[in-house]
Amino acid sequence: MNFRLFLFFFLLNFSAFAQKSYYIEDNLKYTNDAINEDLYKINSEFQPFVKLDTIGFSEFGLPILTLKIHSESTHKKYPIWLVGNIHAREEYSSKMVMKFANLFLLSVVGLDSTYEKASQYLELFDIYVSPVVNPDGLKIAHEDWAGIEQFKDSVLKIKLIDGLSAWKANGLGVDLNSNFDDGNHLYKCTSISQEVPASEGYKGCFPAEAKETIILQNFVNELNPILTLSFHTKGNVLFWGDCDTYEKFNNVDSLISGKVARMTGIKMMNLSYNPITYGCGLENYIRAKLGMLAVCVELSPMTSRREQHPDNQFNKLVWSKVGQLPVIYLEELLKTKELWPSQMKDYFLN
Ligand SMILES: [Zn+2]
Repeated sequence: MNFRLFLFFFLLNFSAFAQKSYYIEDNLKYTNDAINEDLYKINSEFQPFVKLDTIGFSEFGLPILTLKIHSESTHKKYPIWLVGNIHAREEYSSKMVMKFANLFLLSVVGLDSTYEKASQYLELFDIYVSPVVNPDGLKIAHEDWAGIEQFKDSVLKIKLIDGLSAWKANGLGVDLNSNFDDGNHLYKCTSISQEVPASEGYKGCFPAEAKETIILQNFVNELNPILTLSFHTKGNVLFWGDCDTYEKFNNVDSLISGKVARMTGIKMMNLSYNPITYGCGLENYIRAKLGMLAVCVELSPMTSRREQHPDNQFNKLVWSKVGQLPVIYLEELLKTKELWPSQMKDYFLN
């Protein structure tokens, strides 16, 4: 190769690498502001495969950002939704979906090989990623008051079960994953339930009381994702089904999650039988109202202590085990197509 040609290819490659990067904060605290900043960078660098939208604003007025990963096409695709940080302190969950999104996009443009079939998946699926659906809560758990200073006094008056770093609720003390309108709000009551707004365990006065809950319900009602993975951070288990909705899925739900469990080493829980404990989660709402697959994925090993694993243990405790989990779900979803119940089979007819 002559020198000029070599220089041309060298610069071409160099500019591709220089423009498309890996941003994720693997080892330190990944704050809401840093995540949003990275989403904007990813959005500007990975065009035309991404579209960044604000799906609504939290109780304190912070944007809830959602990145759509897609490829241009005239045919319709199945929407998939990956959700992080509905529980504030569980910051591994936002790292999980951010890292997936960034490496998936690098794989799409051929700069990484983590997901070899990334481009093929985009022929069939549009992937929506919402890394922080409870931004007020995440900022409270990080004691990061920038931009929400005027709410600090009222937050500090809310019943605190443990230190601020263990904050799980939204900014007004409602546990979002106990506030969805799946028909179980009246019964929902667990051993950690609170009667008043609190840093965790308060289901709200009525279903869909929290602004964030309404935003997420509206978002799924419009998007109708065929599969939702909502990430949490304790126990390395999958909550894949509940007795209210089990019959809707023709066993596809347990088949898919069973395979994911075997391939990742994560434990598949039994069907959730008691709405008093399982009810009012995002996943329950989606199964009940849309009849689509929705799984609560609990990342990282269980410990006897309340606090989260250290920030710098994410790759070891989470990524090494479940980095492939989202695409295993996609693979298994496609493999079971023959068994899909009518609402999934006729997805594009409805
Ligand atoms: Zn959780």
